[in-house]
Amino acid sequence: QSARELLLSRIRDVPDYPKPGVMFKDITPLLADPKAFAALTDALVELAGRYGATKIVGLEARGFILAAPVAVQAGIGFVPVRKAGKLPGATLAQSYELEYGTAEIEVHAEDLSAGDRVMVIDDVLATGGTAGASLELIRRAGAEVAGVAVLMELSFLPGRKRLDGALGGAPLDAL
Ligand code: IMP
Repeated sequence: QSARELLLSRIRDVPDYPKPGVMFKDITPLLADPKAFAALTDALVELAGRYGATKIVGLEARGFILAAPVAVQAGIGFVPVRKAGKLPGATLAQSYELEYGTAEIEVHAEDLSAGDRVMVIDDVLATGGTAGASLELIRRAGAEVAGVAVLMELSFLPGRKRLDGALGGAPLDAL
């Protein structure tokens, strides 16, 4: 069994969650299987090396779970990008469009600086709104985008296309 097959076998499709018509990709079976979680972490650590990343950004909330062991294993710092209002220090904020309305994410300004090469990690790339806003934050902090890695890309949505400009040539990898 390849790593890809192992990961795929540990993702649960939940129909009509969180609302009718949505097929939710649930990663909790993967997290509960230490072999699968380790295979995912190893694959992300390898990408971090390929990107030449010097910081790992995790996107709230499932991105935190995936990104934290990567940062430890790669021996580089972890930076949380959080939903607005959760970080106590001085922040940079970025809002983005949702299907209905807008959302806002923040990062501690002191956590990212010029010279950093930042890898962004999340579980699922859907419309690309969240990841795109995180790339804006990284650039506004003066840091460089090294690459974006997600466990899954919902390829029937235009997420990759929406991210194209914000990536500025940096890679987007879906495992
Ligand atoms: P986007 O901003 O539309 O790309 O949505 C991506 C965000 O929504 C990520 O932070 C994901 O964790 C979350 N998300 C969207 N769809 C799913 C899903 O099917 N399973 C788990 N998370 C999802």
